[in-house]
Amino acid sequence: MADIRLEGVGHSYDGGRTWALKPMTWTWQSSRAYALLGPSGCGKTTLLNIISGLITPTEGRIWFGDREVTGVPTAGRNIAQVFQFPVLYEEMSVYDNLAFPLRNRKFPKKEVDQRVRQVSELLGLDQVLRRRSRRLDAGRQQIVSLGRGLVRPQVAAVLLDEPLTVVDPALKWTLRSKLKEIHRDTGHTLIYVTHDQTEALTFADEVVVLNEGAIVQAGSPAELFLSPAHEFVGHFIGSPGMNMVPAEIVGAVVRVGTADVGAAPDGLPPGPVRIGVRPEFVRIAGPDASPQETACAAATVTGIDRMGAYDLVHTRVGEHPVIVKTEAGSACEPDAAVFLHFPADRTFLFRDEVRCGSL
Ligand code: ATP
Repeated sequence: MADIRLEGVGHSYDGGRTWALKPMTWTWQSSRAYALLGPSGCGKTTLLNIISGLITPTEGRIWFGDREVTGVPTAGRNIAQVFQFPVLYEEMSVYDNLAFPLRNRKFPKKEVDQRVRQVSELLGLDQVLRRRSRRLDAGRQQIVSLGRGLVRPQVAAVLLDEPLTVVDPALKWTLRSKLKEIHRDTGHTLIYVTHDQTEALTFADEVVVLNEGAIVQAGSPAELFLSPAHEFVGHFIGSPGMNMVPAEIVGAVVRVGTADVGAAPDGLPPGPVRIGVRPEFVRIAGPDASPQETACAAATVTGIDRMGAYDLVHTRVGEHPVIVKTEAGSACEPDAAVFLHFPADRTFLFRDEVRCGSL
């Protein structure tokens, strides 16, 4: 197994007028579990199809280790793929479907049996191995497809395109942890496409966030949550996403409306910025708190959502909404005047959507 390297790889479906994938250079390291996360239409499937060889990119070159595969069709790339919907031989048994990718590559009978039993046990298919695939419901069929994608050792990568879409929500949690277990066992390079942040964050060693055809940030789930480098990551990851408050750098301070809320980072030129802070990190203090304290703003409570496990306190700083996630049972009442504290190490400044400092 080797790293998969994209060198200036980009793709346009309309002769270069628009780019579904903007030219990018990026390395998928061998044996890591990646999630490729982004909203509908951002280019996830295009990127996956370029890696698998279903699409030849308009620009750039692709390397599997030191072998260039840019023009090599899928069959020559030693890739396993799992799609959104089941792709099975319906008349074959579950066992034969799982065994197919191995038999096709002339694995010894004993190894075929061993791998099929191992994967089917992990995925909870051991009780249905003799059943014809068409007799399973769509969710179970998809689990068999997943098994087929994972059964081969020594593949260049396993590419999974929203593989759990048709699976029952209650089963998804179990399957994701099984997938992790199988990954630990096989050491495959996994690239798992999803638009669902929970899926991405629970599954991956590294989450690659794609927006409008470009990678905006890649990192561990904790890095993306605690230290977003781009406003899009702040919005897209987290529930609710990051609060963004328009502000201004005026001399040495950051100003929201007429209130100074903190010191400006050294060297940041004057002009508009946005303050980003996650609802989890804003702290509410009563009206007696010291407004002189840095990174503090007067706010009004506009409403409270009592979610059971936590409360979402909706406030307004001037004209700007700021949501605060607190423990359940918050004493706040609508219309209360409060101060919001923004912790310096968790509050960031963004200019032109890119992080340019912290408060
Ligand atoms: P989804 O999650 O909805 O599948 P995605 O992130 O996988 O979206 P892509 O399917 O890669 O995104 O699409 C990226 C862009 O390219 C979109 O604007 C889409 O409309 C366009 N596109 C995708 N396939 C084609 C095609 N065969 N011909 C023309 N445009 C296409």
